[in-house]
Amino acid sequence: MLSKSFELKNTSEQLEQHDTKLFSDINEKDILHSHLRPYIINFLKVLTQNISEEDLYNFLQNMKTLKTNFKNFTIYNMLSHRSVHGFYSYEDNTISLSKRNYHLTIYHELFHMASTVIEKDASTLYTGFLQIQDNDEKIGNGLNEGYTQYLTERYFSDKPILKCYSYETRIASIIEQIIGSSKMQSFYFHGNLSGVVDSLKNYSSKDEIDKFITTLDDISNYISCGLLKAKSKDAILKNSFIDINNFLIQTSLKQKILESNEHRIIIEHLIHKIDPVLCLLPQAVVYKYKEYKAYDTDLLEKNLSIVLKDYRLEHDKVLIK
Ligand SMILES: [Zn+2]
Repeated sequence: MLSKSFELKNTSEQLEQHDTKLFSDINEKDILHSHLRPYIINFLKVLTQNISEEDLYNFLQNMKTLKTNFKNFTIYNMLSHRSVHGFYSYEDNTISLSKRNYHLTIYHELFHMASTVIEKDASTLYTGFLQIQDNDEKIGNGLNEGYTQYLTERYFSDKPILKCYSYETRIASIIEQIIGSSKMQSFYFHGNLSGVVDSLKNYSSKDEIDKFITTLDDISNYISCGLLKAKSKDAILKNSFIDINNFLIQTSLKQKILESNEHRIIIEHLIHKIDPVLCLLPQAVVYKYKEYKAYDTDLLEKNLSIVLKDYRLEHDKVLIK
């Protein structure tokens, strides 16, 4: 769990310094002449076609000095009980890939590069939705890995890609549904976790949002990074999956109520409005052959009554204005 001392910060990135020369300064000799050339060129092409120039600021900055290499992760994976195939080092703007399957992992790692704000002498590093402080305190890793993979699958689904972080990916896609895809993408490419938090504050409290982000970090550490050593692992996981779903149901219900133009909504219609979220919500999560139930209709009813507590009800309707 995250210590209370972690304060979300905003990057001091200056957009007015935007480099309009785009690709002219790219480290062509080292990058584009390498064996990864076709992948990097394809990434450039897809991003420039789909993402606004303003949101590509960090990507184009980092492309100028990006380095790549091949690395053997066998010993690292053996010692850490993980299965890492690629890695992006924020400190030296370097992508390391396993020679065996680099074509499956390169796009995910390129997204990490494209969303990293390299600020000299800053005490906090911003990369996508992850913030890392000097003392190695981190926040947002689960949401960051999930959204990185979500974008990889969105833009490179025609290519063979390694499926990873499937739980986090699903949760990140729900958050995108709640705050909107263009906002969410823009926050990601500017290393702006605070933007996500501020958007969610329209529908939830700061404490609830912090709890959601740190619980997702904990789950990600446990299930994707194999870091769970606690004896109470079962109880932690069981509660965490449900806590995450509670947050997502309550937040999306609140969003639909606040964005409605009607004075009253039939409660059943309100529930239908969050169908897209309910469809994505993990019903159960299997981890190490054990199934953790995360959703049932009781959970929906419980969260509905929590949200509706703040409103006046009239028969089968909730009064909004
Ligand atoms: Zn990653």
